[in-house]
Amino acid sequence: MKRILFMLTSLFLLAACNEGKKADTRTTGDDGIDSTFEYKVDRFADIEILRYPVPGFNSLTLQQKELIYYLSQAALEGRDILWDQNNRYNLTIRRVCEGVYENYMGDKSSEEWGNFETYLKQIWMANGIHHHYSEDKIMPQFSQDFFVKLVKSVDPGRMPFRDGMAADETLNEILPVMFDPAVMPKRMSQTPGTDIVATSAVNFYEGVTQKEVEDFYNAMKVPNDNTPVSYGLNSKVTKVDGVVTEQVWKLGGMYDKAIERIIGWLEKAATVAENDHQKQTILSLIAYYKTGDLKTFDDYSVQWVTDTTSRVDFINGFIETYSDPLGLKATWESMVNFKSIEASERTRIISENAQWFEDNSPIDNRFKKEEVKGVSAKVITAAILGGDTYPSTPIGINLPNADWIRRDHGSKSVTIDNITFAYDKAAEGNGFKEEFMWSDDERGLTTKYGTLTDNLHTDLHECLGHGSGRLLPGVSTDVLQAYASPLEETRADLFALYYLADPKLVELGLLPDNEAYKAEYYSYIMNGAMTQLTRIQPGKQIEQAHMRNRATISNWVIEQGKADKVVELKERDGKTYVVVNDYDKLRALFGQLLAELQRIKSEGDFEAGKNLVETYGVKVNPVLHKEVLSRYEALNLAPYKGFVNPVYKLVTDENGKVTDVTISYEENYVDQQLRYARQYSVLPLKN
Ligand code: ZN
Repeated sequence: MKRILFMLTSLFLLAACNEGKKADTRTTGDDGIDSTFEYKVDRFADIEILRYPVPGFNSLTLQQKELIYYLSQAALEGRDILWDQNNRYNLTIRRVCEGVYENYMGDKSSEEWGNFETYLKQIWMANGIHHHYSEDKIMPQFSQDFFVKLVKSVDPGRMPFRDGMAADETLNEILPVMFDPAVMPKRMSQTPGTDIVATSAVNFYEGVTQKEVEDFYNAMKVPNDNTPVSYGLNSKVTKVDGVVTEQVWKLGGMYDKAIERIIGWLEKAATVAENDHQKQTILSLIAYYKTGDLKTFDDYSVQWVTDTTSRVDFINGFIETYSDPLGLKATWESMVNFKSIEASERTRIISENAQWFEDNSPIDNRFKKEEVKGVSAKVITAAILGGDTYPSTPIGINLPNADWIRRDHGSKSVTIDNITFAYDKAAEGNGFKEEFMWSDDERGLTTKYGTLTDNLHTDLHECLGHGSGRLLPGVSTDVLQAYASPLEETRADLFALYYLADPKLVELGLLPDNEAYKAEYYSYIMNGAMTQLTRIQPGKQIEQAHMRNRATISNWVIEQGKADKVVELKERDGKTYVVVNDYDKLRALFGQLLAELQRIKSEGDFEAGKNLVETYGVKVNPVLHKEVLSRYEALNLAPYKGFVNPVYKLVTDENGKVTDVTISYEENYVDQQLRYARQYSVLPLKN
């Protein structure tokens, strides 16, 4: 259940298992976040750039704010490491483009210039020349001749040509990489039967074959090691004098200059740590950056995961391995955050009442747990995004990755409240509800209660749903095979849906009234039966586990409720809509299906599970699909979102003593990217 794609971001960093969920951020004028807060920043190609608020920042203690400031600086210093990791020409291409963008004095009204500007925005979003999600090379929509003309028209003294290279030399190097579709077409290649190391454009390997790399790391492994280090996590593999060797990313090694500055900020952070445990965690990270020793990285990870009391928290380092075709090398990333007290209170209440929910569940008593423990998930507010979490960001984090640390010390699972809140706010008024919801009743309900009930659904799913129920003796979940995952998500979702309508939630103060749940009921079925089809290509079936789960539930209740017209697909003016006629009966149907799902799991009934998913969760009605796709396309919504960061400033008195840290949100996307390029670029253009 860990690490599932969220919000169409490329980062599977995180996870927990709810896709596209979460948000409970109260806005207060005190934090400069009111109704005038501008969530939308920029729009180009298939991208929309948003801004996220950081509610609660101003209420932190000075020490906490100072800690966030230093950690946020450390988060931004690693930016160019990621660019270079993604491709060894990325830094040169970016800085040449930025040099042109800032210094070109000619006509900027032409379509080609506009396309050049879009290209630069696209590579900023992707941290390189390959699309952040599809990993395909972004092809410029301007000609090579035009680009050459631009580069040559700018004063060479203002261009970042490397080591005295002339414009021609630099161009000879980058033009094929930018313009030839056959050169480095994919950031990461996974084509079976090919050398995936040689055919991937990432800068983790150079001049070595897949076989050589595999042999190199296989030779390192210690047999029967119960606590193995993450071999190869922090290095590039090359050949020196014909011998395969690692260039380690550490102080004095590859990426030295950036790492030196990261360490500098971490040292300052250590002086204002909230407690000794956190201080030791930061010092371990520094020791790791200094030595590159992976054992030290594990020590750091253990300290990090066992720090559960600090309000401020962060990740910083070479963490996720999704960009490496061999799954060894980690991209650099960072995120600084602090615990959202109010939102975490919600999950605490739910977890405290876990036994009540278990006892009152509509499942067979034989399948109930006599003693159930809820999981109290932490909800956090992101303060800065860096490296591989910027501009495209996950909405949850589940770390560390080392299996033995998870086994022996547990993991931290968090959801990032203010990011999803920003997603929700930015989606307001985009025409989606007007297009797909039946009437103003549903639109009113979802506007009033949607964010809250959506969050609560996620909380119930995560904190209680997965943990509820038990297997009969001798039954293993393995028997459900490929259906185990969609069935498990279906079960957890049904648990959440069933309880959302329970008066107990109002009694516990989690919902304001007995109407609120209807917002989630309607949205859920509209999504499961219709609008999630916007993510399926024409002619394809539903593959992804969460999408199968939502389709299964939605299509099942529509069919089972047919006789009583509980939920219907109705047509009006040639368009299809979901209409819920009887919310009480709908809840009863959810309860009925939950009981069946629990039976399937508890008894390990493979045939019944398979039947359910195959009948309701896989097939797509091609006529409805076509209709939904064309209605969605007409809305012209950007499929991918990125974010700009807020700007933090230290305030000091005449003696240089820090008296405050301010936060502001004015910076736009272009200015931020150009400022980061000026402020946080210390690496050589090619590494
Ligand atoms: Zn789940």
